[in-house]
Amino acid sequence: MEKLRADKISQWVNGRLIGNENAVADKVSTDTRTLTKGSLFVAIRGEKFDGHDFIGEAFRKGAGIVLSEKEYPVSGDNAVILVKDTVKALGDLARNYIKLFDLTVIGITGSVGKTTTKEMIAQVLSTQYKVHKTMGNFNNQIGLPLSVLNLDRSHSVAVFEMGMSAMGEIDYLSRIIQPDIGIITNIGISHIEKLGSRQNILRAKLEIINGMKENGVLILNGDDELLSGLEGLLPMPVVFYGINDNCNVKGYGIESLGEKGVRFTVNIRNRDVDIFLPVPGIHNVSDALAAIACAIEMGITDENIQKGLIQYSSEKMRMNIVEYGNVKVINDTYNAAPASSMAALSVLREISGSRRSIAVLGDMLELGAYSEEAHKSVGACVAHENINYLVAIGELAKDYVVGAVEAGMDKKRILHFPDPESAVDSLRELIEPNDVVLFKASRGMHLDRIIEDIFEDA
Ligand code: ATP
Ligand code: MG
Repeated sequence: MEKLRADKISQWVNGRLIGNENAVADKVSTDTRTLTKGSLFVAIRGEKFDGHDFIGEAFRKGAGIVLSEKEYPVSGDNAVILVKDTVKALGDLARNYIKLFDLTVIGITGSVGKTTTKEMIAQVLSTQYKVHKTMGNFNNQIGLPLSVLNLDRSHSVAVFEMGMSAMGEIDYLSRIIQPDIGIITNIGISHIEKLGSRQNILRAKLEIINGMKENGVLILNGDDELLSGLEGLLPMPVVFYGINDNCNVKGYGIESLGEKGVRFTVNIRNRDVDIFLPVPGIHNVSDALAAIACAIEMGITDENIQKGLIQYSSEKMRMNIVEYGNVKVINDTYNAAPASSMAALSVLREISGSRRSIAVLGDMLELGAYSEEAHKSVGACVAHENINYLVAIGELAKDYVVGAVEAGMDKKRILHFPDPESAVDSLRELIEPNDVVLFKASRGMHLDRIIEDIFEDA
Protein backbone atom coordinates (compact mmCIF):
# COMPACT_ATOMS: atom_id res chain seq x y z
CA MET A 1 0.00 0.00 0.00
CA GLU A 2 1.15 3.57 -0.64
CA LYS A 3 1.80 5.44 2.60
CA LEU A 4 -1.44 6.98 3.95
CA ARG A 5 -1.91 9.48 6.76
CA ALA A 6 -4.50 9.01 9.51
CA ASP A 7 -6.34 12.24 8.67
CA LYS A 8 -6.70 11.19 5.02
CA ILE A 9 -7.99 7.74 5.96
CA SER A 10 -10.40 9.23 8.47
CA GLN A 11 -11.77 11.61 5.86
CA TRP A 12 -12.22 8.79 3.32
CA VAL A 13 -14.08 6.53 5.73
CA ASN A 14 -16.04 9.33 7.33
CA GLY A 15 -14.62 8.44 10.75
CA ARG A 16 -13.73 10.22 13.97
CA LEU A 17 -9.98 10.51 14.47
CA ILE A 18 -8.51 10.18 17.95
CA GLY A 19 -4.78 10.71 18.52
CA ASN A 20 -2.08 11.65 16.04
CA GLU A 21 -3.46 12.82 12.71
CA ASN A 22 0.03 12.52 11.20
CA ALA A 23 0.30 8.80 12.01
CA VAL A 24 0.99 6.82 8.85
CA ALA A 25 0.52 3.28 7.55
CA ASP A 26 1.89 1.64 4.41
CA LYS A 27 0.16 -1.72 4.70
CA VAL A 28 -3.15 -3.03 5.96
CA SER A 29 -3.93 -5.99 8.20
CA THR A 30 -7.00 -7.62 9.74
CA ASP A 31 -5.04 -10.28 11.61
CA THR A 32 -2.53 -9.50 14.35
CA ARG A 33 -0.84 -12.87 13.86
CA THR A 34 0.61 -11.66 10.58
CA LEU A 35 0.61 -7.91 11.30
CA THR A 36 3.90 -6.09 10.81
CA LYS A 37 5.21 -2.68 11.89
CA GLY A 38 3.68 0.31 10.14
CA SER A 39 0.32 -1.34 9.46
CA LEU A 40 -3.19 -0.03 9.51
CA PHE A 41 -5.07 -2.57 11.64
CA VAL A 42 -8.74 -3.00 10.79
CA ALA A 43 -10.68 -4.55 13.69
CA ILE A 44 -13.36 -6.80 12.22
CA ARG A 45 -15.97 -8.86 14.05
CA GLY A 46 -15.74 -12.38 12.67
CA GLU A 47 -17.67 -15.55 13.46
CA LYS A 48 -15.08 -16.88 15.92
CA PHE A 49 -13.05 -13.82 16.87
CA ASP A 50 -13.64 -10.14 17.35
CA GLY A 51 -10.73 -8.10 16.01
CA HIS A 52 -11.49 -5.45 18.64
CA ASP A 53 -10.05 -7.81 21.27
CA PHE A 54 -6.67 -7.59 19.52
CA ILE A 55 -6.25 -3.82 19.22
CA GLY A 56 -3.72 -3.74 22.08
CA GLU A 57 -1.69 -6.45 20.41
CA ALA A 58 -1.86 -4.63 17.10
CA PHE A 59 -0.32 -1.53 18.66
CA ARG A 60 2.30 -3.64 20.46
CA LYS A 61 3.32 -5.18 17.16
CA GLY A 62 3.78 -1.74 15.64
CA ALA A 63 0.45 -0.78 14.03
CA GLY A 64 0.39 2.99 13.55
CA ILE A 65 -3.32 3.37 12.94
CA VAL A 66 -6.33 1.29 14.01
CA LEU A 67 -9.75 1.37 12.41
CA SER A 68 -12.28 0.43 15.08
CA GLU A 69 -15.94 0.45 16.05
CA LYS A 70 -15.03 0.85 19.72
CA GLU A 71 -13.10 3.59 21.52
CA TYR A 72 -9.59 2.61 22.53
CA PRO A 73 -7.05 4.66 24.51
CA VAL A 74 -4.37 5.94 22.12
CA SER A 75 -0.85 6.76 23.15
CA GLY A 76 2.12 8.57 21.64
CA ASP A 77 2.32 8.74 17.89
CA ASN A 78 -0.62 6.46 17.16
CA ALA A 79 -4.16 7.04 15.99
CA VAL A 80 -7.52 5.33 16.26
CA ILE A 81 -10.21 6.04 13.69
CA LEU A 82 -13.71 5.35 14.94
CA VAL A 83 -16.42 4.23 12.54
CA LYS A 84 -19.81 2.55 12.80
CA ASP A 85 -18.91 -0.40 10.64
CA THR A 86 -15.29 -1.38 9.98
CA VAL A 87 -16.10 -3.68 7.06
CA LYS A 88 -17.91 -0.87 5.28
CA ALA A 89 -15.06 1.52 6.18
CA LEU A 90 -12.59 -0.91 4.62
CA GLY A 91 -14.68 -0.77 1.44
CA ASP A 92 -14.78 3.06 1.55
CA LEU A 93 -11.04 3.14 2.04
CA ALA A 94 -10.44 0.87 -0.97
CA ARG A 95 -12.88 2.83 -3.17
CA ASN A 96 -11.02 6.06 -2.49
CA TYR A 97 -7.57 4.50 -2.59
CA ILE A 98 -7.97 2.98 -6.03
CA LYS A 99 -8.78 6.45 -7.44
CA LEU A 100 -5.20 7.54 -6.67
CA PHE A 101 -3.95 5.49 -9.59
CA ASP A 102 -4.03 5.74 -13.33
CA LEU A 103 -5.13 2.16 -13.87
CA THR A 104 -7.11 -0.10 -16.13
CA VAL A 105 -9.34 -2.12 -13.83
CA ILE A 106 -10.66 -5.55 -14.77
CA GLY A 107 -13.41 -7.11 -12.64
CA ILE A 108 -14.40 -10.77 -12.96
CA THR A 109 -17.49 -12.49 -11.64
CA GLY A 110 -19.37 -15.67 -12.56
CA SER A 111 -20.37 -18.98 -11.01
CA VAL A 112 -17.21 -20.96 -11.83
CA GLY A 113 -13.86 -20.10 -13.31
CA LYS A 114 -13.26 -16.68 -11.72
CA THR A 115 -9.89 -17.49 -10.18
CA THR A 116 -8.77 -19.47 -13.23
CA THR A 117 -9.72 -16.60 -15.55
CA LYS A 118 -8.08 -14.04 -13.26
CA GLU A 119 -4.82 -15.99 -13.22
CA MET A 120 -4.85 -16.44 -17.01
CA ILE A 121 -5.54 -12.74 -17.58
CA ALA A 122 -2.76 -11.76 -15.19
CA GLN A 123 -0.33 -14.05 -17.03
CA VAL A 124 -1.24 -12.74 -20.45
CA LEU A 125 -1.35 -9.04 -19.54
CA SER A 126 1.93 -9.31 -17.62
CA THR A 127 3.68 -9.72 -20.96
CA GLN A 128 3.07 -6.01 -21.63
CA TYR A 129 1.91 -4.38 -18.38
CA LYS A 130 2.75 -4.32 -14.69
CA VAL A 131 -0.26 -6.22 -13.36
CA HIS A 132 -1.75 -6.37 -9.89
CA LYS A 133 -4.20 -9.20 -9.15
CA THR A 134 -6.48 -10.44 -6.40
CA MET A 135 -4.45 -12.48 -3.96
CA GLY A 136 -5.60 -16.12 -4.01
CA ASN A 137 -9.36 -16.15 -3.70
CA PHE A 138 -9.78 -12.82 -1.84
CA ASN A 139 -13.06 -12.00 -3.54
CA ASN A 140 -15.57 -10.91 -0.89
CA GLN A 141 -16.39 -7.66 0.91
CA ILE A 142 -13.27 -7.99 3.04
CA GLY A 143 -10.91 -9.75 0.62
CA LEU A 144 -11.55 -7.46 -2.33
CA PRO A 145 -10.73 -4.21 -0.46
CA LEU A 146 -7.61 -5.84 0.98
CA SER A 147 -6.56 -6.79 -2.55
CA VAL A 148 -7.17 -3.20 -3.70
CA LEU A 149 -5.06 -1.82 -0.86
CA ASN A 150 -2.12 -3.91 -2.02
CA LEU A 151 -1.92 -1.84 -5.19
CA ASP A 152 0.94 0.58 -5.61
CA ARG A 153 2.10 3.17 -8.13
CA SER A 154 4.10 0.66 -10.14
CA HIS A 155 0.92 -1.07 -11.41
CA SER A 156 -0.81 -0.10 -14.62
CA VAL A 157 -3.48 -2.83 -14.69
CA ALA A 158 -5.40 -4.49 -11.85
CA VAL A 159 -7.42 -7.73 -12.15
CA PHE A 160 -9.92 -8.45 -9.40
CA GLU A 161 -12.17 -11.42 -8.69
CA MET A 162 -15.62 -10.70 -7.24
CA GLY A 163 -17.54 -13.46 -5.50
CA MET A 164 -21.08 -13.40 -4.18
CA SER A 165 -23.69 -15.46 -2.42
CA ALA A 166 -26.59 -13.00 -2.35
CA MET A 167 -28.17 -10.06 -4.22
CA GLY A 168 -26.44 -6.72 -3.80
CA GLU A 169 -22.97 -8.11 -3.17
CA ILE A 170 -21.60 -7.66 -6.69
CA ASP A 171 -23.12 -4.17 -6.78
CA TYR A 172 -21.15 -3.36 -3.62
CA LEU A 173 -17.88 -4.85 -4.87
CA SER A 174 -18.12 -3.42 -8.38
CA ARG A 175 -18.68 0.11 -7.04
CA ILE A 176 -15.46 -0.23 -5.06
CA ILE A 177 -13.24 -1.10 -8.01
CA GLN A 178 -15.22 0.55 -10.88
CA PRO A 179 -14.08 -1.79 -13.66
CA ASP A 180 -13.13 -0.58 -17.14
CA ILE A 181 -13.60 -4.16 -18.28
CA GLY A 182 -16.21 -6.42 -16.66
CA ILE A 183 -16.25 -10.17 -17.22
CA ILE A 184 -18.95 -12.73 -16.41
CA THR A 185 -17.71 -16.29 -16.85
CA ASN A 186 -21.05 -18.10 -16.60
CA ILE A 187 -24.34 -18.38 -14.75
CA GLY A 188 -24.38 -21.68 -12.90
CA ILE A 189 -26.24 -22.77 -9.83
CA SER A 190 -23.65 -22.14 -7.11
CA HIS A 191 -25.34 -20.32 -4.20
CA ILE A 192 -28.79 -20.92 -5.67
CA GLU A 193 -29.92 -21.73 -2.14
CA LYS A 194 -30.04 -18.02 -1.31
CA LEU A 195 -30.95 -16.68 -4.74
CA GLY A 196 -33.78 -19.01 -5.72
CA SER A 197 -33.34 -19.23 -9.50
CA ARG A 198 -30.79 -18.92 -12.29
CA GLN A 199 -32.55 -15.76 -13.49
CA ASN A 200 -31.86 -14.25 -10.08
CA ILE A 201 -28.25 -15.38 -10.25
CA LEU A 202 -28.00 -13.70 -13.66
CA ARG A 203 -29.46 -10.51 -12.19
CA ALA A 204 -27.04 -10.64 -9.27
CA LYS A 205 -24.00 -11.04 -11.57
CA LEU A 206 -25.21 -8.25 -13.86
CA GLU A 207 -24.90 -5.89 -10.91
CA ILE A 208 -21.29 -5.64 -12.10
CA ILE A 209 -22.62 -3.05 -14.57
CA ASN A 210 -23.66 -0.71 -11.73
CA GLY A 211 -20.07 -0.04 -10.80
CA MET A 212 -18.51 -0.02 -14.27
CA LYS A 213 -16.95 3.10 -15.76
CA GLU A 214 -19.03 4.94 -18.33
CA ASN A 215 -17.01 3.78 -21.34
CA GLY A 216 -16.58 0.26 -19.95
CA VAL A 217 -16.70 -2.95 -21.96
CA LEU A 218 -18.43 -6.12 -20.86
CA ILE A 219 -16.99 -9.51 -21.79
CA LEU A 220 -19.49 -12.36 -21.57
CA ASN A 221 -19.47 -16.10 -22.12
CA GLY A 222 -21.40 -16.54 -25.39
CA ASP A 223 -21.79 -20.28 -24.76
CA ASP A 224 -23.86 -19.61 -21.64
CA GLU A 225 -27.50 -19.55 -22.66
CA LEU A 226 -28.52 -16.88 -20.16
CA LEU A 227 -25.60 -14.60 -21.00
CA SER A 228 -25.86 -15.02 -24.77
CA GLY A 229 -29.54 -14.14 -24.45
CA LEU A 230 -28.46 -10.63 -23.41
CA GLU A 231 -27.22 -9.76 -26.89
CA GLY A 232 -28.41 -6.29 -27.87
CA LEU A 233 -30.02 -5.67 -24.48
CA LEU A 234 -27.16 -4.07 -22.57
CA PRO A 235 -26.25 -0.38 -22.42
CA MET A 236 -22.58 -0.84 -23.31
CA PRO A 237 -20.28 -2.57 -25.82
CA VAL A 238 -20.34 -6.33 -25.24
CA VAL A 239 -17.83 -8.92 -26.47
CA PHE A 240 -18.95 -12.56 -26.49
CA TYR A 241 -16.41 -15.35 -26.28
CA GLY A 242 -16.91 -19.09 -26.69
CA ILE A 243 -17.19 -21.79 -29.29
CA ASN A 244 -20.60 -20.79 -30.68
CA ASP A 245 -20.73 -19.25 -34.12
CA ASN A 246 -22.13 -15.98 -32.86
CA CYS A 247 -19.13 -15.35 -30.59
CA ASN A 248 -16.82 -12.43 -31.34
CA VAL A 249 -13.82 -14.28 -29.94
CA LYS A 250 -14.28 -17.82 -31.11
CA GLY A 251 -12.28 -20.92 -30.28
CA TYR A 252 -12.23 -24.04 -32.47
CA GLY A 253 -10.22 -27.16 -33.20
CA ILE A 254 -10.10 -27.96 -29.47
CA GLU A 255 -7.91 -30.98 -28.84
CA SER A 256 -7.24 -32.46 -25.45
CA LEU A 257 -3.71 -33.76 -24.89
CA GLY A 258 -4.76 -35.50 -21.67
CA GLU A 259 -2.58 -34.71 -18.75
CA LYS A 260 -0.34 -32.42 -20.78
CA GLY A 261 -3.07 -29.92 -21.46
CA VAL A 262 -5.29 -28.63 -24.25
CA ARG A 263 -4.69 -27.18 -27.68
CA PHE A 264 -7.06 -24.97 -29.65
CA THR A 265 -7.17 -22.26 -32.25
CA VAL A 266 -8.69 -18.83 -31.91
CA ASN A 267 -9.29 -16.14 -34.46
CA ILE A 268 -7.69 -12.92 -33.29
CA ARG A 269 -7.89 -9.79 -35.44
CA ASN A 270 -8.63 -11.98 -38.48
CA ARG A 271 -5.66 -14.28 -37.91
CA ASP A 272 -5.75 -17.87 -36.71
CA VAL A 273 -3.64 -18.20 -33.60
CA ASP A 274 -2.77 -21.58 -32.06
CA ILE A 275 -2.97 -21.73 -28.30
CA PHE A 276 -1.56 -24.33 -25.93
CA LEU A 277 -2.75 -24.45 -22.34
CA PRO A 278 -0.56 -26.62 -20.11
CA VAL A 279 -3.45 -27.69 -17.84
CA PRO A 280 -5.82 -30.62 -18.32
CA GLY A 281 -9.52 -30.20 -19.00
CA ILE A 282 -11.26 -28.63 -21.98
CA HIS A 283 -13.32 -26.48 -19.59
CA ASN A 284 -10.18 -24.36 -19.28
CA VAL A 285 -10.63 -23.31 -22.91
CA SER A 286 -13.64 -21.25 -21.91
CA ASP A 287 -11.66 -19.37 -19.26
CA ALA A 288 -8.76 -18.92 -21.70
CA LEU A 289 -11.11 -17.44 -24.31
CA ALA A 290 -12.29 -14.92 -21.70
CA ALA A 291 -8.65 -14.05 -21.06
CA ILE A 292 -8.01 -13.71 -24.81
CA ALA A 293 -11.03 -11.42 -25.25
CA CYS A 294 -9.68 -9.28 -22.43
CA ALA A 295 -6.16 -9.32 -23.92
CA ILE A 296 -7.52 -8.14 -27.28
CA GLU A 297 -9.23 -5.19 -25.54
CA MET A 298 -5.90 -4.39 -23.91
CA GLY A 299 -3.93 -4.51 -27.17
CA ILE A 300 -1.80 -7.55 -26.33
CA THR A 301 -0.01 -9.02 -29.37
CA ASP A 302 -0.84 -12.51 -30.67
CA GLU A 303 2.62 -13.75 -29.66
CA ASN A 304 2.22 -12.46 -26.13
CA ILE A 305 -1.22 -14.03 -25.82
CA GLN A 306 0.31 -17.39 -26.79
CA LYS A 307 3.26 -16.88 -24.47
CA GLY A 308 1.14 -15.80 -21.50
CA LEU A 309 -1.20 -18.78 -21.72
CA ILE A 310 1.65 -21.28 -22.06
CA GLN A 311 2.97 -19.97 -18.77
CA TYR A 312 -0.34 -20.51 -16.96
CA SER A 313 -0.31 -23.15 -14.26
CA SER A 314 -3.19 -24.12 -12.01
CA GLU A 315 -3.27 -23.25 -8.34
CA LYS A 316 -3.17 -25.51 -5.35
CA MET A 317 -6.01 -28.04 -5.06
CA ARG A 318 -7.50 -27.05 -8.40
CA MET A 319 -7.08 -30.02 -10.70
CA ASN A 320 -3.66 -30.84 -9.27
CA ILE A 321 -2.18 -34.09 -10.53
CA VAL A 322 -0.03 -35.90 -8.01
CA GLU A 323 1.55 -39.36 -8.15
CA TYR A 324 1.44 -41.59 -5.08
CA GLY A 325 3.62 -44.53 -6.08
CA ASN A 326 1.96 -45.86 -9.24
CA VAL A 327 -1.36 -44.25 -8.48
CA LYS A 328 -2.26 -41.01 -10.18
CA VAL A 329 -4.41 -38.66 -8.10
CA ILE A 330 -6.33 -35.71 -9.46
CA ASN A 331 -6.81 -33.46 -6.44
CA ASP A 332 -9.64 -31.06 -7.21
CA THR A 333 -10.92 -30.70 -3.67
CA TYR A 334 -10.85 -26.93 -3.58
CA ASN A 335 -14.52 -26.68 -4.45
CA ALA A 336 -17.30 -28.34 -6.41
CA ALA A 337 -20.35 -27.30 -8.38
CA PRO A 338 -22.12 -29.34 -11.08
CA ALA A 339 -20.27 -27.76 -14.02
CA SER A 340 -16.83 -28.16 -12.48
CA SER A 341 -17.60 -31.71 -11.31
CA MET A 342 -18.60 -32.77 -14.79
CA ALA A 343 -15.49 -31.07 -16.18
CA ALA A 344 -13.35 -32.98 -13.67
CA LEU A 345 -15.01 -36.31 -14.59
CA SER A 346 -14.21 -35.78 -18.23
CA VAL A 347 -10.57 -35.08 -17.28
CA LEU A 348 -10.57 -38.29 -15.20
CA ARG A 349 -11.85 -40.34 -18.11
CA GLU A 350 -9.34 -38.84 -20.49
CA ILE A 351 -6.31 -39.19 -18.27
CA SER A 352 -7.13 -42.73 -17.22
CA GLY A 353 -7.33 -44.06 -20.80
CA SER A 354 -7.06 -47.82 -20.40
CA ARG A 355 -6.24 -47.60 -16.67
CA ARG A 356 -8.88 -48.06 -13.95
CA SER A 357 -10.66 -44.85 -12.98
CA ILE A 358 -12.17 -44.05 -9.58
CA ALA A 359 -14.25 -40.95 -8.83
CA VAL A 360 -14.31 -40.02 -5.14
CA LEU A 361 -17.02 -37.39 -4.94
CA GLY A 362 -18.11 -35.56 -1.80
CA ASP A 363 -21.17 -33.35 -1.31
CA MET A 364 -21.67 -30.22 -3.38
CA LEU A 365 -22.95 -27.72 -0.81
CA GLU A 366 -25.19 -24.63 -1.04
CA LEU A 367 -27.31 -25.82 -3.94
CA GLY A 368 -30.63 -25.55 -2.07
CA ALA A 369 -33.62 -26.87 -3.95
CA TYR A 370 -31.39 -27.88 -6.88
CA SER A 371 -29.27 -30.10 -4.70
CA GLU A 372 -30.95 -33.43 -5.44
CA GLU A 373 -31.13 -32.84 -9.18
CA ALA A 374 -27.53 -31.58 -9.29
CA HIS A 375 -26.10 -34.59 -7.46
CA LYS A 376 -28.15 -36.97 -9.59
CA SER A 377 -26.93 -35.44 -12.82
CA VAL A 378 -23.29 -35.59 -11.71
CA GLY A 379 -23.89 -39.24 -10.71
CA ALA A 380 -25.31 -39.90 -14.17
CA CYS A 381 -22.23 -38.26 -15.64
CA VAL A 382 -20.03 -40.78 -13.76
CA ALA A 383 -21.94 -43.55 -15.52
CA HIS A 384 -21.85 -41.88 -18.95
CA GLU A 385 -18.12 -41.24 -18.72
CA ASN A 386 -17.65 -44.97 -18.01
CA ILE A 387 -15.77 -44.35 -14.78
CA ASN A 388 -14.97 -47.74 -13.18
CA TYR A 389 -15.83 -46.91 -9.56
CA LEU A 390 -17.87 -44.24 -7.82
CA VAL A 391 -17.14 -43.54 -4.16
CA ALA A 392 -19.76 -41.11 -2.87
CA ILE A 393 -19.10 -39.33 0.42
CA GLY A 394 -21.60 -37.35 2.48
CA GLU A 395 -25.33 -37.00 3.04
CA LEU A 396 -26.14 -35.27 -0.25
CA ALA A 397 -23.80 -37.64 -2.07
CA LYS A 398 -26.46 -40.36 -1.82
CA ASP A 399 -28.00 -38.72 -4.86
CA TYR A 400 -24.81 -39.33 -6.87
CA VAL A 401 -25.53 -42.99 -6.25
CA VAL A 402 -29.17 -42.65 -7.35
CA GLY A 403 -28.15 -40.80 -10.53
CA ALA A 404 -25.40 -43.26 -11.40
CA VAL A 405 -27.66 -46.29 -10.90
CA GLU A 406 -30.45 -44.69 -12.95
CA ALA A 407 -27.94 -44.11 -15.73
CA GLY A 408 -27.04 -47.79 -15.73
CA MET A 409 -23.93 -48.05 -13.57
CA ASP A 410 -23.42 -51.41 -11.89
CA LYS A 411 -24.24 -51.12 -8.15
CA LYS A 412 -21.26 -53.31 -7.33
CA ARG A 413 -19.02 -50.52 -8.54
CA ILE A 414 -20.55 -47.92 -6.24
CA LEU A 415 -19.73 -47.24 -2.58
CA HIS A 416 -21.23 -44.72 -0.20
CA PHE A 417 -19.85 -43.35 3.10
CA PRO A 418 -21.34 -40.78 5.46
CA ASP A 419 -18.11 -38.76 5.81
CA PRO A 420 -14.52 -38.66 4.48
CA GLU A 421 -12.89 -40.36 7.49
CA SER A 422 -15.11 -43.44 7.28
CA ALA A 423 -14.11 -43.94 3.64
CA VAL A 424 -10.36 -44.16 4.23
CA ASP A 425 -10.04 -47.91 4.90
CA SER A 426 -12.24 -48.96 2.00
CA LEU A 427 -10.44 -46.62 -0.37
CA ARG A 428 -7.12 -48.13 0.68
CA GLU A 429 -8.50 -51.54 -0.23
CA LEU A 430 -10.12 -50.45 -3.46
CA ILE A 431 -7.23 -48.49 -4.95
CA GLU A 432 -4.70 -50.59 -6.85
CA PRO A 433 -1.40 -49.72 -8.53
CA ASN A 434 -1.92 -47.91 -11.84
CA ASP A 435 -5.33 -46.52 -10.89
CA VAL A 436 -6.30 -42.94 -11.60
CA VAL A 437 -8.33 -41.40 -8.77
CA LEU A 438 -10.25 -38.13 -8.77
CA PHE A 439 -11.07 -36.39 -5.46
CA LYS A 440 -13.68 -33.67 -5.74
CA ALA A 441 -16.07 -32.01 -3.26
CA SER A 442 -17.12 -28.66 -1.86
CA ARG A 443 -14.49 -27.02 0.33
CA GLY A 444 -16.64 -27.53 3.43
CA MET A 445 -16.26 -31.32 3.08
CA HIS A 446 -12.48 -31.12 3.64
CA LEU A 447 -11.96 -34.07 1.32
CA ASP A 448 -8.30 -33.13 0.80
CA ARG A 449 -7.55 -34.20 4.39
CA ILE A 450 -8.01 -37.90 3.67
CA ILE A 451 -5.77 -38.07 0.60
CA GLU A 452 -2.58 -38.17 2.65
CA ASP A 453 -4.12 -40.79 4.98
CA ILE A 454 -5.06 -43.08 2.13
CA PHE A 455 -1.61 -43.03 0.56
CA GLU A 456 0.38 -42.91 3.79
CA ASP A 457 2.47 -45.95 2.92
CA ALA A 458 2.57 -45.47 -0.83
P1 ATP B 1 -14.79 -19.73 -6.16
O1 ATP B 1 -16.23 -19.35 -6.17
O2 ATP B 1 -14.45 -20.84 -5.24
O3 ATP B 1 -13.89 -18.55 -6.02
P2 ATP B 1 -14.02 -19.67 -8.94
O4 ATP B 1 -15.16 -19.09 -9.69
O5 ATP B 1 -12.88 -18.77 -8.65
O6 ATP B 1 -14.53 -20.39 -7.62
P3 ATP B 1 -12.10 -21.52 -10.03
O7 ATP B 1 -11.41 -21.56 -8.73
O8 ATP B 1 -11.41 -20.89 -11.17
O9 ATP B 1 -13.54 -20.87 -9.85
O10 ATP B 1 -12.53 -22.98 -10.45
C1 ATP B 1 -13.33 -23.77 -9.58
C2 ATP B 1 -13.50 -25.15 -10.15
O11 ATP B 1 -14.18 -25.11 -11.39
C3 ATP B 1 -12.21 -25.86 -10.44
O12 ATP B 1 -12.43 -27.17 -10.07
C4 ATP B 1 -11.98 -25.72 -11.92
O13 ATP B 1 -11.28 -26.80 -12.42
C5 ATP B 1 -13.40 -25.66 -12.45
N1 ATP B 1 -13.60 -24.75 -13.58
C6 ATP B 1 -12.90 -23.62 -13.86
N2 ATP B 1 -13.40 -23.00 -14.93
C7 ATP B 1 -14.46 -23.74 -15.36
C8 ATP B 1 -15.40 -23.63 -16.43
N3 ATP B 1 -15.34 -22.59 -17.29
N4 ATP B 1 -16.35 -24.59 -16.55
C9 ATP B 1 -16.40 -25.63 -15.69
N5 ATP B 1 -15.55 -25.81 -14.66
C10 ATP B 1 -14.58 -24.88 -14.49
MG1 MG C 1 -12.17 -18.11 -6.88
